[in-house]
Amino acid sequence: MAKRDFYEVLGVSKGAEAAVIKKAYRKLAMKYHPDRNSDDPKADEKFKEASEAYEILSDADKRAAYDRMGHAAFEGGAGGGGGFGGGGFGGFEDIGDIFGNMFGGGGQRRGGGGQRQRKGSDLRYVLELSLEEAIKGDKKTISFTAPATCKTCDGKGTKEPKDVKTCTQCGGHGQVRMSQGFFSVQQTCPVCHGSGKEIKNPCGTCHGTGTEQRKRSLEVSIPAGVDNGNRIRITGEGEPGGPGGINGDLFVEVVVKPHDIFERDGADLYMDVPISFPDAALGTKIEIPTLDGRVNLSIPEGTQSGKMFRLTGKGVTPIRSSMRGDLYCRVKIETPVKLSGKQKQLIEELRESMSGDSKNSPGTDSFFQKVGKFFEGS
Ligand SMILES: [Zn+2]
Ligand SMILES: [Zn+2]
Repeated sequence: MAKRDFYEVLGVSKGAEAAVIKKAYRKLAMKYHPDRNSDDPKADEKFKEASEAYEILSDADKRAAYDRMGHAAFEGGAGGGGGFGGGGFGGFEDIGDIFGNMFGGGGQRRGGGGQRQRKGSDLRYVLELSLEEAIKGDKKTISFTAPATCKTCDGKGTKEPKDVKTCTQCGGHGQVRMSQGFFSVQQTCPVCHGSGKEIKNPCGTCHGTGTEQRKRSLEVSIPAGVDNGNRIRITGEGEPGGPGGINGDLFVEVVVKPHDIFERDGADLYMDVPISFPDAALGTKIEIPTLDGRVNLSIPEGTQSGKMFRLTGKGVTPIRSSMRGDLYCRVKIETPVKLSGKQKQLIEELRESMSGDSKNSPGTDSFFQKVGKFFEGS
């Protein structure tokens, strides 16, 4: 099935402001949230579609890319992204944030016997890589501070198990029904925050939440061929789900730093190669860098500026592909500068010898023919 236009999905105009987009998404998310539509299988799909559209349109950079290239801008993304990415780069964001207290920051996952199991929030970490690291793959140690299971109480929220009672507000369901305008919304219980339990003597370290901020380090395997925007999912490394719950996931989002020489476009690499005007006119051999080392490139006599040379198989093997792309070398002819008197004289001689002879400058000649035609008509 072809993907629907993201603006169409959210029912907003192309120029819609961020606040309008957010509002439209909240409305759809409330309508189609899986927790409220367990008997409608299509709702889940609609919910995901809206989430995906919001993820792109709520991020200024991604939205700009989408406006330019459409869905093609995000094809080939890795990491099976289910999460809702927030805007902006740098460190962590709570992916569940958009729902605020509407559905509880924690998010829920259905357990085996119809009983819902609390799942901790997903985390997002932005990892900067050099182009070489992204292409060849690597192991990186990332360090961050994020909520983790409280060590003092082992996530139970208290030292004494007898201090844990069923929450009287929600009767242990963790959810209460609240009216918000026309809607009756299922909301995380404000007393127990969804755990269904009340704690009499809460743990001094975590104040009964079962989680505490902790710094930790993790080694992340970067698969070879990852590209900008790819996400690596590390299951169970997100925030804890509280007592009896399961951890959320950690999404490591790849950002590739610009390279001095190469520019990547999917499987292909591009580079600009400056050559001198005499080399372009007379032909030469130059040495160019590739990912596999130096390679000789023959510049034939009469090479024009902008000419692209393709080196087959010298590009990148993208993630989930076995086909390696190509390296394109774009020749840029450099006009000589700071000439000595002698050099100027030589070029002057060349100019004189070329003037009036159209076979030396076919491009110029045909251009001025077109100019002539253009003015004939007026
Ligand atoms: Zn604790
Ligand atoms: Zn409660």
